[in-house]
Amino acid sequence: MVIIMLGAPGTGKGTVAGILQEKMGIKQVSTGDIFRKNIKEGTELGKLADSYISKGNLVPDEVTIQIVKDRLNEPDVEKGIILDGFPRTIVQAEALEKMLAEKGKKVDLVINLVTSEEEIIERLVYRRVCPNCKSIFNVILHPPKQEGICDNCGHELIHRDDDKEETIKDRFQTYLKQTSPLIEYYEKKGVLRTEEVSKKINRMGKEVAEDIVQEYQS
Ligand code: ADP
Ligand code: ZN
Repeated sequence: MVIIMLGAPGTGKGTVAGILQEKMGIKQVSTGDIFRKNIKEGTELGKLADSYISKGNLVPDEVTIQIVKDRLNEPDVEKGIILDGFPRTIVQAEALEKMLAEKGKKVDLVINLVTSEEEIIERLVYRRVCPNCKSIFNVILHPPKQEGICDNCGHELIHRDDDKEETIKDRFQTYLKQTSPLIEYYEKKGVLRTEEVSKKINRMGKEVAEDIVQEYQS
């Protein structure tokens, strides 16, 4: 099973992917996490990625596609994969289709999360993430029990560098220009599932994920 998480930054892609991974036993692969790990370790890839990410731009397609290609060859994703943050351009989507076809696979489901820009900014500015277990908190909406500490593993939480207001606006523009055309692309392929995520309707990533898990189990 191949699932893709689509949606602007801060819509809850990581939250949904994490729950699906846990409940459905399919591996979550986040290109953003791979880049951040490399930035932290100071690798060549990390240095390159950082020069784009810090400006709210996308890492070039050739680089990103190669990373996913290598990752898809690892045994832990043979049964299935949840791609969290990939593809983000039409070029990436076409490359993915080819890679999967070579393995006799295809994209089965694209979960498109939709949230207003206003809510996205609020969620990201106050977002705090655990670099260790990837748990996600929000200082206002979903604070950890102890300030700055992960409820799940006790690690210190971080405020991502690109979760600052100026960069968030650039990331949103990048999404509109380069990533949002994928909605139509996958709609035409008949695999798109659009979900509104908003506190106004009391529906967050968690609720979306739980519905999907239930549907697939029955
Ligand atoms: P978010 O969805 O909250 O923006 P991610 O962790 O998915 O966060 O991505 C962080 C950054 O990593 C992106 O803003 C982008 O610069 C880079 N990135 C992640 N995935 C891709 C991709 N598929 N193609 C190009 N750049 C990517
Ligand atoms: Zn943690």
